[in-house]
Amino acid sequence: MSCIFCQIVDGKAKADFVLNDGDVFAIRDVHPVAPTHILIIPKKHVRSLLELDGADDSQLISKMVATAVDVARRIDLDERGFRLVWNCRSDGGQTVDHVHLHLLGGRQMKWPPG
Ligand code: 5GP
Ligand code: ZN
Repeated sequence: MSCIFCQIVDGKAKADFVLNDGDVFAIRDVHPVAPTHILIIPKKHVRSLLELDGADDSQLISKMVATAVDVARRIDLDERGFRLVWNCRSDGGQTVDHVHLHLLGGRQMKWPPG
């Protein structure tokens, strides 16, 4: 059984898509922790940031960040701002082993994060 994000991109599980663009897609998080909580996900299955290859995957990583900023602009988060979060492995709080970038907005974020 493939991971939940691979099932979503293969159309085997449902999700609320915000964007589907070449090698990345964006969906609304099923358990949002902010008024806006969107996940930017590569279509390629890569377990975590640590399995991304800094050289080979550098374009993919920059595309994920650029996509998050682009989505933030489109949904009017640019004036008040937003937060991007990469959780990596267990101490980082990663629960789905398919790398993804969280776009959070619509409320004042706290620092330091929990
Ligand atoms: P992580 O904890 O790995 O950084 O983030 C995984 C995120 O995926 C969590 O915020 C969780 O709510 C979300 N998530 C888990 N399963 C699903 C799902 O089936 N659909 C959607 N849209 N989000 C999911
Ligand atoms: Zn996957």
